[in-house]
Amino acid sequence: MHTAAQQPVTGLAGVGPALAARLAKLGIATLRDLLFHFPVRYDDLRSAVPIAELRLNERALVRGTLQAIETRRTFRRRVNVTEALLKDESGMLRVLWFNQPYLGTTLKPGDVLAIFGLFKTHAGRAQLVAQSHEKLDGRDPLHTNRLVPLYALTAGVTQRQMRSFVHQALAAAPTIPDPLPEELLRRHHLQPLSTSLRALHFPRDEAERDEALRRWKFEELLLFQLRRLRTTATEKSARAHALPFKAAPIRAFVASLPFALTSGQRKAAWHLLQRMEAGIPQHLLLQGDVGSGKTVVAAIAAVSAFTAGKAVALMAPTEILARQHALTLAPLFRAAGAPLFLATSGYRARMDGSETQLTTAALRTALRAGGPLCVVGTHALLEASLALPPLGLVIVDEQHRFGVAQRAAFLEKGGNKVRPHLLSLTATPIPRTLALALAGDLDVVTLKEQPKGRQPITTVVVEPSARDTVYTAVAKELHAGHRAFVVAPLIDPSDTEGVASAQELYEELHERFPRFALGLLHGKRSSKDKVAALADFAEGKTQLLVATAVVEVGIDVPAATVIVIEGAERFGLAQLHQLRGRIGRGVHASTCYLLPASLTLTAKKRLEALAATNDGFALARLDLSLRGPGDLLGLEQSGFLDFRFASLGDGELITTTLEAAQVLLKEDPTLAGHPLLNTSLKHVVPLHTE
Ligand code: ADP
Ligand code: MG
Repeated sequence: MHTAAQQPVTGLAGVGPALAARLAKLGIATLRDLLFHFPVRYDDLRSAVPIAELRLNERALVRGTLQAIETRRTFRRRVNVTEALLKDESGMLRVLWFNQPYLGTTLKPGDVLAIFGLFKTHAGRAQLVAQSHEKLDGRDPLHTNRLVPLYALTAGVTQRQMRSFVHQALAAAPTIPDPLPEELLRRHHLQPLSTSLRALHFPRDEAERDEALRRWKFEELLLFQLRRLRTTATEKSARAHALPFKAAPIRAFVASLPFALTSGQRKAAWHLLQRMEAGIPQHLLLQGDVGSGKTVVAAIAAVSAFTAGKAVALMAPTEILARQHALTLAPLFRAAGAPLFLATSGYRARMDGSETQLTTAALRTALRAGGPLCVVGTHALLEASLALPPLGLVIVDEQHRFGVAQRAAFLEKGGNKVRPHLLSLTATPIPRTLALALAGDLDVVTLKEQPKGRQPITTVVVEPSARDTVYTAVAKELHAGHRAFVVAPLIDPSDTEGVASAQELYEELHERFPRFALGLLHGKRSSKDKVAALADFAEGKTQLLVATAVVEVGIDVPAATVIVIEGAERFGLAQLHQLRGRIGRGVHASTCYLLPASLTLTAKKRLEALAATNDGFALARLDLSLRGPGDLLGLEQSGFLDFRFASLGDGELITTTLEAAQVLLKEDPTLAGHPLLNTSLKHVVPLHTE
């Protein structure tokens, strides 16, 4: 039997076979799917601006009565232009639409309209170029005049269509059964499922939307806690290898480093070694700000695992980073007598001074030997074709870049009869109390200080008009023999207003700095080119590297003293902080220039916050509080667990749901009385130690 929500989308007005096929690309087949395709953001189109008060080059909503409308075709550019006159109490406004000729017939003089668009001069006259509009005919507006939902789309589906489809589908919402028991909804003042669906798609105001969101966060966290509590019992009995640590090889390893450990690094390493010796499988989370020196602490843990005769695997989020780790660690491990292998997608090698490329088969044979060895790689380590030996220690660098399922799969690799120890490295902090509420067996160690002798990084927010001065400063650094990163938000030129792409910047700077060699690094280049571009920059063969955010994580080039981030307003705070962490790693003072393409008030606030502090942990807290109503749904990852809605800012809900889950399980250990909850639990990604 089908409930209304299980009906296919083809039943909706405006959805024929072609549109249904496009929606299918978004994973949407039924009305239920549509309702669970949540908005990613909202535009606040609630307050209209009087026509007389419109400001040039700003986007605004106006409301008025249509006086006249006509569509014509411009011959030279072959575009359809629909031109209209709109009147409100304050004045008259010319409005333009491009390539929507049907508007000339669907809109009539006398219609009351809300129109959102960009007010600018076009052919010498001030006009509003419309982006969206809506007739105000007494019905609830969907596209203007409200908090307007914006969805993830696919080619051939517009926001307007998506809103209309979702709006129609809402009629079926009450037929979707709610997995949360009524009693729970009452006790925790949560919206029932169908109410919260409507409120999330078409909220009256922020308060209503946040209430809806609270319900989804609650459900998500509750399922997570139930799942975790039910598996904890079996987990507790699991043992890991007790990895007794020997002081001598570790001392020798530390002595071989080109620097002295900070006291924080020493304490963290000591803590990890003791935990591994105890043999209790534990998820160890090593958190420390960008540049705090987490890698070497992980290396000490790895050396200890070798000396105990065990294999170690290290997974990093990008090829470049995996390779960098392999290069740094190889000589250290060679001294400790353990071979080191690199495995990224399509590239396998033995790193023994001279790097020897291996076939997958050869690597497999080498790994099968097991024992003290280290394999460093990307998610390619998870490929089924690559059998890993039983592991004593698993290290995940930049752990927030991996999904929970990937991390769990990594732990399962190697056919371990005994669980390996898991060490995760992250620059995204999580408060200890939350860590415990989220994962009872998580052990958090924090590196609080930066290595001594670091030069502070100065961060400067530059007005778009002052862009030239930035490159004059870059030239100075280059002439002084230092190196520079220039980061662009996009790879290819695009028609997106005024945002520079890596390709364009590369060409521009190539002309500007004829005496220097430039490199180009972005995700579309082949692995070989990427590796070469980075190696050339690290070795100084190139002095300026133009890159996209692929340089964000981990890359370590101490000679780089300046980073220019173009289109800076397009990056998140955490990402900008990571990017900035690419400099200030050597002995020279470093500067980070944030060069926004356009500077709105909120963007300015965020960028200035970044300029005001170098403390990544403080920024993470700030990031949560600066989040405006525009950026809502948890496509943002919490950095710790892959929640869709909840984030680490939801500390109170995290503890509330833990209690609620405990109560539910106490009253009904198998949840037999809650079949819907039980079904939902099956859809939660299995979690291993978290
Ligand atoms: P992150 O914590 O961001 O991963 P890394 O481990 O990449 O930081 O370390 C950043 C840089 O600092 C590297 O070049 C590393 O060699 C260096 N480093 C690490 N520890 C120390 C130390 N105690 N003294 C000086 N330099 C250090
Ligand atoms: Mg790192």
